[in-house]
Amino acid sequence: MNRQTIQSFEDFIQPTVSGKISSGTFGMVREDGKRFHEGLDIRPSRVFANGEAADRIFSAIAGKVAYLNHETNGPYGKYIILVHPEAEIEVYTLYAHLAAIDKNLRVGDPLPQGKAIALMGRSSTPENPMPLERSHLHFEVGLRLSDSFNRWYNKKNDPLKNPNRHGVWNGQNLVGFDPSYILKSTRVNLLEVVHNLPTALAVVMRTQTAPDFVYRYPGLTNGEVSTAAGWYIEFTWHGLPKHWTALPADSKQLPSNGFKIVGINPQMRDLMIQRQMLASDGKKPGEILIQNLEILLSNSR
Ligand SMILES: [Zn+2]
Repeated sequence: MNRQTIQSFEDFIQPTVSGKISSGTFGMVREDGKRFHEGLDIRPSRVFANGEAADRIFSAIAGKVAYLNHETNGPYGKYIILVHPEAEIEVYTLYAHLAAIDKNLRVGDPLPQGKAIALMGRSSTPENPMPLERSHLHFEVGLRLSDSFNRWYNKKNDPLKNPNRHGVWNGQNLVGFDPSYILKSTRVNLLEVVHNLPTALAVVMRTQTAPDFVYRYPGLTNGEVSTAAGWYIEFTWHGLPKHWTALPADSKQLPSNGFKIVGINPQMRDLMIQRQMLASDGKKPGEILIQNLEILLSNSR
């Protein structure tokens, strides 16, 4: 077995074929800033004689198994999702492109931190295979938008031609944030990490039913949920609804229906245009903002 030296955070990163280290980190780091990467790509530290990655993958935080995908039927390849109900906020962690998942793992199994769950690899789709030298763990941490995701999905897609194979654990229903906040420190408060993500955009939105998001992540919510007629929602530049304030029916801020943008951080405007949180005019809502709001609202009606 061949072990390589790793000294700094950058040494862990697997870049794309571009060779740029930034391409393996979180953000608008792909295709000259046009494509978003929602996680961190961690390269092998050792390989077998045949060149395949030899690293075992361990649970990042104590939690339980939420989802196991043993097929190579999507861009994540074989992947595992864990949820962490005991963390300060119930984040998910996602481990993708695995070579193999521990055969004994079952959905619902509790796991301590640091339990071996898989072998690093390069699984992907048959149409888009990953070369040996790109082997890596795609690691993601984030929040789930809706429990009713499938209802939104089936309105947008033909479920016979293109079914949702991953339930609520479909990537479109998951919103990650930069995992390096967690990996660079030994002890982090995850709720504080989310609170400290910069606010890039604020919207006010009228709702019939409170989105299940606010019940799942009460640490992100202010005000009276049960009587809310709508919400003031702060978003990160990449589309994570990081803070919610309940608005009563007599709030002057609420639009008569739907939502409206009420604030944009000018320093993040260009980034949000790239991410399609804003349209190309830098003012109107972009596709990702609209999509995330639709998914958040998919529990009503
Ligand atoms: Zn990745």
